[in-house]
Amino acid sequence: MGSSHNQCRILTKCIVFLFIFVSCQPQTTTNKQTKTSNEIDTPTEQPVVVIDPLTIDSALDALPILPKDSDSLRIVAVKDTVPKKPLVLTNRKITDSLRRVLDTKPKHIYLTFDDGPLIGSRAIDSIITARNIKINAFLIGKHAHMSKHLNKSYQIYYNNPLVDCYNHSFTHANNRFQFFYSNPQSAFEDFDRNEKDLELKYKIVRMPGRNIWYFDDIRRVDLSTGGSTADMLYSHGYKIYGWDVEWRINGVTGKPVQTVDQVYTRIKNYMNNKSSLFPNNVVLLMHDDMFQNKLGQKQLSALLDSLQQHKDYTFEFMRDYPFKY
Ligand SMILES: [Zn+2]
Repeated sequence: MGSSHNQCRILTKCIVFLFIFVSCQPQTTTNKQTKTSNEIDTPTEQPVVVIDPLTIDSALDALPILPKDSDSLRIVAVKDTVPKKPLVLTNRKITDSLRRVLDTKPKHIYLTFDDGPLIGSRAIDSIITARNIKINAFLIGKHAHMSKHLNKSYQIYYNNPLVDCYNHSFTHANNRFQFFYSNPQSAFEDFDRNEKDLELKYKIVRMPGRNIWYFDDIRRVDLSTGGSTADMLYSHGYKIYGWDVEWRINGVTGKPVQTVDQVYTRIKNYMNNKSSLFPNNVVLLMHDDMFQNKLGQKQLSALLDSLQQHKDYTFEFMRDYPFKY
C-alpha cells in the first residue's frame, strides 16, 4: 500500500513536472516575442544604429565610439560622433536612364569640418589652400575665445576666401545635447550669439550632435529632440545641413576608425549609387581635431589626392548646396 502510494506520488510529480515544462516553453517564447516587440515600439532617446543592407559601407556606422580623452577640446568632437540613425530615403528611385544622365554631369563634394577653431584648423587651412580647394568650417564661438592661438586660427579661416565659415552654435550645447535641445528658445539664442560673435555672413547651421537637414522643402530629423530648435531656426531664415558620410579618426593618435581607402570608397559609392540626400552631391563630415598631428594631416592629403583623381568631382561651399540636375 505504502509502495503503491509512493509510486502514485512519483507519477503525479512527473506529470506535474511535465505539465510545467510543456506549459513553460511557449510562454517563454511569447514573453520574449512581446518584449522584443515592445523594445521596437518604444521610442527612446538613444540613437538606434540601423545597418542599411544596401550599402556595405554603412556597416562602418556601427563601429565603436572613440574613447574619451582628458583634453576638453577632444570631448567635443568625440561627443559629436555618436552613431546617428541613418537617414532612410524613400520614394527616390533613380531609373537607369536617369542614372546614366547623372553620370555625365559634374559631381559635387562638400568637405565640412566641425568644431573649429581647434588644434588642427591651421593644418587644414594650409592643406586646402595649397590645393586651391573650397571647404566649409562649422565653427564654435567658445573655442575662438579659449586662447590667442585658437582666435588666430579662427581669423585665418575667416580671411581665407576658400573657407566658408558657418554656425555650429556658441557653446556646442556644452555637449549636453538632449538638455540643450529641450529648451529651443535658449538653443536658438546660442546660435544667434555665435552668429554675432563670429560675425558669420551666412545663415547656415549644423546642429551639434544631430544630423538634421532643414532647408527649402527638405526636413529630415535624426533625433526628435532637435526638431523644435530646427523649426525655430528655419522660421528665422536659417538653412540647416547634416551630412551624408562621416570620416572618423582618433585626433590624438591619428589612427583611423575608417581608413582613407574606406572613406574614399564610401564617398565614391554614394556618388555612383546616387545614395546621398541629393544625387551627385555628397557632404562629408570631419572634425578639425582629427588633423592636429602629422599622421592625420597625411591622411587628409591622401584623401584629397584620391578625390582629385576624379576630374568630374568639384569641391563646393554649402551655401551652393545642392546642385540639381
Ligand atoms: Zn560638433
